[in-house]
Amino acid sequence: MFNVRYRSHHDAEHRLAEALGAEANSRRGGVSWNDVEDALSGDPPSGRRCIYIHVPYCDTICSFCNLNRHDGTGVDLESYTQYLLAEISYYAEFPYVNGRQFDAVYFGGGTPTILSGNQLARIIQALRSEVGLSDDCEITIESTLHNLPAKKVVVLEANGVNRLSLGVQTFSPAGRMLLNRTWGPDRAIERLAQIRGGFSGVFGIDIIYSYPGQTLAEVAGDASYCRTLPVDGVSFYSLMVHDESTLGRRIATGEQVFNRTIEQDLTRHNRFYRSMRAGGYELLELSKLVLPGRDEYRYIRIRYDNGDVLPIGAGAGGKLGGFRIYSMAPGRKMASPVDAVYATYHKALGHLQFGRYAPAEIAGTLGLDDDSVLREQMERFVAHGFLQPTNDHTYELTADGVFWGNNIAVEVLTSTINLDLEVRHA
Ligand code: SF4
Repeated sequence: MFNVRYRSHHDAEHRLAEALGAEANSRRGGVSWNDVEDALSGDPPSGRRCIYIHVPYCDTICSFCNLNRHDGTGVDLESYTQYLLAEISYYAEFPYVNGRQFDAVYFGGGTPTILSGNQLARIIQALRSEVGLSDDCEITIESTLHNLPAKKVVVLEANGVNRLSLGVQTFSPAGRMLLNRTWGPDRAIERLAQIRGGFSGVFGIDIIYSYPGQTLAEVAGDASYCRTLPVDGVSFYSLMVHDESTLGRRIATGEQVFNRTIEQDLTRHNRFYRSMRAGGYELLELSKLVLPGRDEYRYIRIRYDNGDVLPIGAGAGGKLGGFRIYSMAPGRKMASPVDAVYATYHKALGHLQFGRYAPAEIAGTLGLDDDSVLREQMERFVAHGFLQPTNDHTYELTADGVFWGNNIAVEVLTSTINLDLEVRHA
């Protein structure tokens, strides 16, 4: 049915922004920073909100990666910590920020745990004392295995970190070598088991499938390790090849052969997905499976709900006081007004990320008079075997539907955008 697969919610967001012509979704500027400071001088809004902290350094660069990160070898990480602390203090001066607590904190990267336990603890303490965190604040830190010794786990948990997201990617020896992951599978598994045993919070890992040469046995092996450990949650992504990554360059020069077809991608996705479902995992969002009740993933829910995101660090993006904010480097920030129409559709996109579609709820978010257009679209996908109707007037994604989930979301929403535009132009 589809020729191209949107592999992540970022693809869906870009398609949605294109369809809406929403310039505000880009990172181009548009307002003076004084406008932002004026907005932050007002009262905070109601609703849950979160903080994103970016640490753009890694000590090993993975072959597939094109994220916003740099080689951290030799970087003065204490200076970077001081910059993060100064940013926290800067924002904490504003009533909009300090007037109400935040409900989730997410440390992303890069590899945030390239910072020492002491540096991370000081950052969390500053957030708690200067900005304000709720008592049950979800605090997530991304890490790689070799950057997370047992002692650091103890320090993090003592400071309120209750969610770990570890980049593992695969347990296959060949796959780990191809993706340039540190350590072979035995050591990776040993370390995971140690962390699992010493951490009481939510423990999740990332897995990549559909990389060059991956066999179905390797896919099944990865699922088996996830279930046996067990991890609380697993984010599973089809390999995305970026031209500027090492792997992308090797493929472009012919040094690495990679002729993946959609069918191969689908087969590997479904092998992993079905194996995890058989092990008791349920779908939390399109690329995330969790043990029941073990992971709220509050941070992503707040973002989809258009809640505020306080961005801290070079490369951090967020949204505060009606502005989208992007921090590029110390002393360099850009802001643009939030596009209200895009924000509405972004929230609707959030409804379509969690595996169960409630047309009436989505219609309510979009301000449509009824949900008939949405139901019509969803029935199309039922006919294709991507959705199943449920007894409570919602639809549930099948395994194939999860694979195509972002495409389905874009199609469903694009049809309503057209309708909405027709109404507005009438
Ligand atoms: S550890 Fe993560 S951010 Fe760093 S290079 Fe690897 S994938 Fe990219």
